[in-house]
Amino acid sequence: MQQLQAKPSFNPTDCSHWFPSFSSLLYKIEKWGAPYFSVNSSGNISIRPKGLNSSSTHEEIDLLKVVKKVSDHKSSGGLGLQLPVIIRLPDVLKNRLESLQSAFESAICSWNYGSRYQGVYPVKSNQNRFIVEDIVRFGFPFRFGLEVGSKPELLLAMNCLCKGHPEALLICNGFKDRDYILLALIARKLAFNVVVVLEQVEELDLVIDLSTKLCVSPVIGLRAKLRTKHAGHFGSTSGERGKFGLTPRQILSVVKKLEKAGMLNCLILLHFHIGSQIPSITMLADGIGEATQIYCELVRLGACLQFIDVGGGLGIDYDGSKSSNSDVSVGYGLEEYASTVVQVIQQVCDSKSVKHPVICSESGRAIVSYHSIVIFEAISSSVSDSPGLNPEGLQHFVEGLTEDARADYSNLSAAVIKGEHTACLRYANKLKQYCLDQFKEGSMNIEQLAIVDELYDMVSKATGASEPIHTYLVNLSIFNSVPDFWAIGQMYPIVPIHRLDQKPTVKGILLDLTCDSDGKIDRFIGGELSLPLHDHRESSTGQYYLGIFLGGAYEEALAGSHNLLGSPSVVQVSSQSSEPEGFVVTMAMPGQSCRDVLRTMQHEPEVIFKELKQRIEELGQVNGTADGMLQSVLAGIFSNMPYLTRGSSCS
Ligand SMILES: *Cc1c(COP(=O)(O)O)cnc(C)c1O
Repeated sequence: MQQLQAKPSFNPTDCSHWFPSFSSLLYKIEKWGAPYFSVNSSGNISIRPKGLNSSSTHEEIDLLKVVKKVSDHKSSGGLGLQLPVIIRLPDVLKNRLESLQSAFESAICSWNYGSRYQGVYPVKSNQNRFIVEDIVRFGFPFRFGLEVGSKPELLLAMNCLCKGHPEALLICNGFKDRDYILLALIARKLAFNVVVVLEQVEELDLVIDLSTKLCVSPVIGLRAKLRTKHAGHFGSTSGERGKFGLTPRQILSVVKKLEKAGMLNCLILLHFHIGSQIPSITMLADGIGEATQIYCELVRLGACLQFIDVGGGLGIDYDGSKSSNSDVSVGYGLEEYASTVVQVIQQVCDSKSVKHPVICSESGRAIVSYHSIVIFEAISSSVSDSPGLNPEGLQHFVEGLTEDARADYSNLSAAVIKGEHTACLRYANKLKQYCLDQFKEGSMNIEQLAIVDELYDMVSKATGASEPIHTYLVNLSIFNSVPDFWAIGQMYPIVPIHRLDQKPTVKGILLDLTCDSDGKIDRFIGGELSLPLHDHRESSTGQYYLGIFLGGAYEEALAGSHNLLGSPSVVQVSSQSSEPEGFVVTMAMPGQSCRDVLRTMQHEPEVIFKELKQRIEELGQVNGTADGMLQSVLAGIFSNMPYLTRGSSCS
């Protein structure tokens, strides 16, 4: 193992053998991807969608085969979808849900806890219909419910829970107005198991008033503001000055009001949310302990509480480092999380002789992050085979230099011969700067400037002074596919999904298609400022595909339409051992077309097309051009996605 670890250390000049397992270590795939992602013997990313439950290797999916199936032309048996594409894996969702459930069940069993676990999925993590429907279906056996924070989220949750377990919770969080509360009470009338969680004291007056008018007995929760402060990026959720929840004074006033209205028996749930991506078990235990004390106090004050809802925050180890002082990692796993929650609640309740509550949690990130992968292609890169210096050109160049510059050139040549690296670089730098000045003054031409750049690159390469960082242009918009990378510096593992049996020979950063200087990925997990990459031109298939992993939570709803690049295609893939390739595509949807994205900014694509067509016809009469061809090109562009395509609408 020691040896294996040593080998993949990145050194592009070392041309020794390379194995898929080296890539696995280099990109830390087992660290962040287990048990779902690994590298197979063909050097492709392999998906084990059922995690450790996979009964055999037949249940492994070769990601490259999925991408081929999705992007190949219809005439060759593919689906003909354009990239980028989001590949969704419902089996992974199911496995995450089951793992969470079983982590809590085994903690409850081993601590001899006196009640049960009943989770909800916070739909804001990804409101996509197929995901929410799948979670309700997969979670049916354990009464899994939904959590919402706005009116449209409540509407979609009501619809999806029609097929849910009758006891599944529907938890209404977030700031509420009259309509939100009305809708929640209507849902109660429609026999959904709705809990209205008070976020502000004012909401209680509306709840009391509207429930009387509707003749419905509300089920109420309240959200406590904890003092325990999450120190990471998501820390503003909690702490004394946090954005959400009721302070002790406000909690007391809610209890008084409920008592006065004869409705204290309606208060059944205590909710709190420490913040997303809770970094450590210590912080978790601290927050849960504080909240359980509040729970016990509410019981002492006469509330008939039954549920403690510990919120979300179960974190994801995006960089595989298992560290508890980083925003992109967590120092615990599912089992430790569940065990701590159960143990702390039990300890506090026992010390106050309070009956153990049903434990609810609202894990979003932990349920959906792993289930989708964004696949995109590198289109071109700055990796180039240098044409080399032609001696005639070089001689001509040297003759054109002033005497001083020619002296620098001679010094450079001498230093090269003597192998004096520092001197080489110093003279090369000086010469380059001189030539640039000359060019700006107009006394040097562009051919000469190209020669000095070439010379400089040769020297820096030979001296090993700077390993060049290459730029790869990728067919992607980070604003659409990983907006959190841009907005809050969130890191995701990014890896080539094939050629992992070959040594990556260069270091690169990724530039996206937007005309925005922020449209680049130049920071990678592990604090790296570049990503080991292969020469994209040397791919046997002609394509170089990369994947962004663990981005299943939040990114789709946050996505923007910067540069009108629109949303990616989406496919849903399940493992199917009876299929020759081991998988089936159960749903495929092309991304937004140029027509669709134009509409998002109130343009009218039909009108645009009609007017351009009219112009073609008018001018066609004058010029006699083949206007049929122009029109069909135009129509094709409207229907295609805005991302770069390989073919053309003019075939
Ligand atoms: C966002 C949110 C969640 C989900 O948090 P994760 O960290 O994704 O698990 C849960 N509950 C509330 C109230 C939230 O606002």
